[in-house]
Amino acid sequence: MNVLKIAIQKSGRLSEDSLKLIKECGIKLNNGKGKLKATADNFPLEFLFLRDDDIPGYVEDGVADLGIVGENVLVEKENDVELVKKLGFSKCRLSIGVDRNWDYKNIHELEGKSIATSYPKILGNYLKGKKVNAEIHEISGSVEIAPSIGLAEAVCDIVSSGSTLLSNGLKEADVIMRSEAVLIAQNALSADKRNILNQLIFRINAVQEGKQNKYILLNAPNSAIDEIISLLPGMKSPTILPLAMEGWSSLHSVVKEDDFWEVIEKLKKAGAEGILVSSIEKMIL
Ligand code: ATP
Ligand code: MG
Repeated sequence: MNVLKIAIQKSGRLSEDSLKLIKECGIKLNNGKGKLKATADNFPLEFLFLRDDDIPGYVEDGVADLGIVGENVLVEKENDVELVKKLGFSKCRLSIGVDRNWDYKNIHELEGKSIATSYPKILGNYLKGKKVNAEIHEISGSVEIAPSIGLAEAVCDIVSSGSTLLSNGLKEADVIMRSEAVLIAQNALSADKRNILNQLIFRINAVQEGKQNKYILLNAPNSAIDEIISLLPGMKSPTILPLAMEGWSSLHSVVKEDDFWEVIEKLKKAGAEGILVSSIEKMIL
């Protein structure tokens, strides 16, 4: 039988959330700690644990069929692979950092300056697009110390809170790219493998939809039901069940996490009582 090979970061900022997603998809991993390979018990998936930098290349070559990497690494490596899906975790920015006393206004101030980075291609393309000529120093790690040791006048590095820049006397001056973890696939997957990938995507969508929605249960007088329904776009239409109490009903539906508090306020005003809300583990549309 066909098995899909998926490459996941061995240890680092993507590893834990990648494995968590796999688990939420109901896929059980059969691995010994520290091993480089593992198989799933209940899904045709085999895991390869690698350094994140190597993942796009291995997927392009077909050593792995799928991979999970940061978009920053994917774009920098310029490998010919398919971006299947954004995964919503490991969100970060690739940003320009400069001395915190520099009254930085825009990217044109980097004209003729030197910038240290581990992302020479992304930075180079960005500067080219902005018609800025700067000298790019490629270094593989500890980029943020470059200005203090006189190696470069600015840096271009991954930032999430900005605390690493701050502790090195730098500030985030410009955002070059936003990134999150993505699922990538080899371009020429066989039909059988594509089929397994589609099953995996179906599960990931169900997990993601579940996270973006809340299940809501409430009681309301029948006279308020129409207004309440209009406040709950829900899946298709809400479930309404009569309560033992004459003239009252119970209503079940889903609410988008983003609109949640606003909707609750409106529901209360419309006459809803006994509102219960719970998280949704999976949601299939
Ligand atoms: P490896 O040893 O596998 O090469 P690494 O040191 O290159 O690991 P990590 O620091 O683990 O990489 O980061 C992996 C990815 O996680 C980055 O490419 C980026 O997409 C994302 N990332 C990096 N820093 C952060 C952060 N502070 N917050 C959120 N996501 C981040
Ligand atoms: Mg790396």
